Amino acid sequence: MGSLKQPWDAVRARITQAAQSCARSPGDIRLLAVSKTFGIDAIREVAGYGQRDFGENYIQEAVEKIQLLRTDPVTQHCVWHCIGPIQSNKTRWVAEHFDWVHTIDRLKIAQRLSEQRPADLPPLQVCLQVNIDGGATKSGVSPKDTLALARAVAQLPRLVLRGLMTLPDPSPDFASELAVHQRAAALFANTASALQLPAFDTLSMGMTGDLEAAIHAGSTMVRVGTAIFGQR
Ligand SMILES: *Cc1c(COP(=O)(O)O)cnc(C)c1O
Repeated sequence: MGSLKQPWDAVRARITQAAQSCARSPGDIRLLAVSKTFGIDAIREVAGYGQRDFGENYIQEAVEKIQLLRTDPVTQHCVWHCIGPIQSNKTRWVAEHFDWVHTIDRLKIAQRLSEQRPADLPPLQVCLQVNIDGGATKSGVSPKDTLALARAVAQLPRLVLRGLMTLPDPSPDFASELAVHQRAAALFANTASALQLPAFDTLSMGMTGDLEAAIHAGSTMVRVGTAIFGQR
């Protein structure tokens, strides 16, 4: 047994416990293992336990790892999620190597990703990043502009709009974490009912520190790094 088995099991147990405590099915919450800064041996180990979804922030680092891991029998079926900011000059790498992108916050980036998605790959699965707690310097589309951006992104031929993603600043306690996540969940529900798209099923929110509150509010995908791989 490798050194990451216990922490990976513990995160899964936290998800199960949080889901059960609010009468949700643990199977409705997907665990995204955030492997940024960690090497391919750690990723291979966790993939060996059955972890399929991995999140990466830094495009160049990620592409180097993905290229190695796509040809490895243990990791060849892993699903790669881009959860970091994307500059225009990096969109081609993202379009060619990732399966998902969670950080769409403007139409120009989405258009480039759609144009650059290779024809032999399935469409790129995307979420809009929403600046749910209003930090002026933060990335993310504002809540009031979310529906308009969603409608435009949904038209792009090589993208499938899957939902929303949030990255709120840390909150002091569970109640304030929950309040922010509930705002995101309400925006997600309103956007979903306005769009009526069958694939719009993903609310990506919750990390090591706040996954319980995120699950209580309705998260369908938690992005966990530190609790699995350790401190960065
Ligand atoms: C690093 C990161 C995470 C994981 O954070 P932890 O606190 O280590 O679990 C999740 N989402 C995004 C966007 C990140 O950059």
